[in-house]
Amino acid sequence: MSETGTGSSKETTMTNGVTALDGKVALVTGGSRGIGAAVALRLAEEGAHVALTHQGSPEAAEAVAAKITAMGRSALAVRADSADPEAVRAAVAAVAGRFGRLDVLVNNAGVGAVGPIGEMTADQVDRVLAVNVRAPYLYAQAAAEHLGEGGRIVGIGSCMARRTAFPGSSLYATSKAALSGLTKALARELGPRGITVNLVHPGPVDTDMNPADGESAAFQHGFTALGRFGTPAEVADAVAYLAGEGARYVTGAELDVDGGFAV
Ligand code: NDP
Repeated sequence: MSETGTGSSKETTMTNGVTALDGKVALVTGGSRGIGAAVALRLAEEGAHVALTHQGSPEAAEAVAAKITAMGRSALAVRADSADPEAVRAAVAAVAGRFGRLDVLVNNAGVGAVGPIGEMTADQVDRVLAVNVRAPYLYAQAAAEHLGEGGRIVGIGSCMARRTAFPGSSLYATSKAALSGLTKALARELGPRGITVNLVHPGPVDTDMNPADGESAAFQHGFTALGRFGTPAEVADAVAYLAGEGARYVTGAELDVDGGFAV
């Protein structure tokens, strides 16, 4: 675990000089690369201090943290394997300990799984469900102890939870569909405390997990209405909206940011 210090100059995205998430603290799981890195940077642009977890990419995590610091926010990079419940709890405790508060949790870290159901081993099922389902649950559980009025939980699901357009997604789609239940149930449970819980379903997005020049890229974006991959920044924009004040009356919602994959 390492910490990157506080800078001084602040970006402004609102005309009165106060940024939307000014002074708030966000935790983004899997913030070292891809969508999570874009979300971490976007929330920092909005004024948040940002902690991000990673599994095994300390250099990438530190690079994101350094960019956040350069924006004048504080950043904390935490190594925490989402599959390890103790690491999850320790990560949230580290954030609360460092910043003294937590306002936004983004449950982004996830692993892919593609293949016929007959080829999936029990170990693969356990691993995917541990990272994609149990970890978001445990992160939300630990974060809920710290979130107050105006708190936000944003999950990252998948277009595959909405429309299984091609075979081979049984495990991944199962894991991502589970987040719908978690989102709705937590929205109901945490609503009385003024905390919103929402879920973003990205379509095919150009990352290490799913490169836009990969073997199946054309096949995948053929299912979208816009006929192209999305960018991590396009998903981050949606997360920033849900994390911000403008979404204060939005909870239990699922937002497709998928170029029309689900239609
Ligand atoms: P990447 O593989 O590009 O990045 C994954 C990130 O999650 C990395 O920061 C990685 O950390 C982290 N991570 C992976 N496993 C663990 C773990 N066990 N513990 C902690 N951190 C972990 O993926 P994407 O950015 O593409 O995906 C982000 C989310 O978006 C995932 O939930 C994915 O399912 C979802 N999604 C992605 C789509 C796409 O087309 N790209 C489409 C729909 C949904 P490290 O760098 O240390 O490995």
